[in-house]
Amino acid sequence: MIEAIGLSKYYGSFAATRDVSFKIFAGEVVAFLGPNGAGKSTTMKLLTGYLSPSEGSAQIAGYNMSKDRIEGSKHLGYLPENGPLYPDMNPRSLLEFFGTARGMDRAHLANRIEAVVDMCDLGAVIGKPVGKLSKGYRQRVGMAQALLHEPDVLIMDEPTGGLDPNQIAEVRRMITNLGKDHTILLSTHIMQEVDAMCSRVLFISEGRLRMDKSIKELTDEGEPLDVVFHKLSGEALEESLQTKKTAVAM
Ligand code: ADP
Repeated sequence: MIEAIGLSKYYGSFAATRDVSFKIFAGEVVAFLGPNGAGKSTTMKLLTGYLSPSEGSAQIAGYNMSKDRIEGSKHLGYLPENGPLYPDMNPRSLLEFFGTARGMDRAHLANRIEAVVDMCDLGAVIGKPVGKLSKGYRQRVGMAQALLHEPDVLIMDEPTGGLDPNQIAEVRRMITNLGKDHTILLSTHIMQEVDAMCSRVLFISEGRLRMDKSIKELTDEGEPLDVVFHKLSGEALEESLQTKKTAVAM
């Protein structure tokens, strides 16, 4: 359902991602882990078609996101890192705007807005500008926008980032529910989140995919996830220091 095929993205000579490949199958909920600056957001933007790759390709539900983005986007809901844009719009006008842009007819859109407002509990803030809402509410507006057109694939960039513990619990509950009938890739820093919601983990650092394992494989290996995470982060840091030392020596 989600496939990265040799995805690289260069900014000048700097590679934000390098030859990243993985496949996520229907019904999986997969965690995307890695230190800050590892390339998670970039990979997610390449998968959604928001960025075009320097090399490689991305597929959503079998559609190449460079060539068939409109068809692929019908299957895809994307929650960007900092929630929805357009701070002056209120949640209702924002949802109407996105629904219309997606070509949804009026009656269907009205029904779907009602459904996502209810699902994301936005009733109390429906008329307030998005820019004036708390981070928790903004995140929920982003979620409502991602779910509006009933996609079967969800890509969520730090869905619990910057939320307080109550809001985190709420968003986790929502994602766990969505995981029953959606294919999901979500990025996070929180290890408990991975254990609670995901069946597989992808780990990226310095733009390269370092690990792709199921939670079962990791559990069978007997190492707690946070230990694995620190080890992989440490290895990546060591490797980068070595590369810099070699470059200086030359
Ligand atoms: P993560 O989401 O894992 O924190 P990002 O994908 O946001 O990481 O960034 C990966 C790397 O690419 C970082 O070093 C970041 O500074 C760099 N980067 C991201 N976007 C740009 C850009 N538009 N121009 C230059 N460098 C960028």
